[in-house]
Amino acid sequence: MIRPILKYGAEGLHDRARPVEAITPEIDRLIDDMIETMYAAPGVGLAAPQVGVPLRIFVIDLSSGRDPSGLTVVINPEFVERDGMQLEEEGCLSVPGFEATVVRPLRAVVKGLDRAGNEQQREGVGLLARAFQHEMDHLDGTLFVDRLRGIKRDLIVRKIKKLTRAGKW
Ligand SMILES: [Zn+2]
Repeated sequence: MIRPILKYGAEGLHDRARPVEAITPEIDRLIDDMIETMYAAPGVGLAAPQVGVPLRIFVIDLSSGRDPSGLTVVINPEFVERDGMQLEEEGCLSVPGFEATVVRPLRAVVKGLDRAGNEQQREGVGLLARAFQHEMDHLDGTLFVDRLRGIKRDLIVRKIKKLTRAGKW
């Protein structure tokens, strides 16, 4: 089932999410829905708080469903390593229509549980490292806009407020 994606400013999107205690059928359904919602958007990553569920789960597929091995699901993720730095344009399904250059690690290693409840460790370089950091941020209530400074951030926030007032957000 495709779930509605919360937008910047929505209740719950800016809070820290809780760890998953057990992978129940409900959690399994949530993950199916997150994958379906990500592909339908279309996007390359989605975190549970973006569909209004305050739990530490994210899904990433840089191939947008074209490569069956491209899908990564991580429950209760943690960083093991992060190094280097990259500066690239970035967007977010919760901030549609806006992009900005964000500082991210060049390489990141994440560990957490897979859907079966087994420990897994994934290494990402470049775009995948960026995606790991972006989705991890969502689990702490941080959006890429919050990572910006000064007028770049103010400009986006002001435009979103204007759209919200006009009922177009
Ligand atoms: Zn996002």
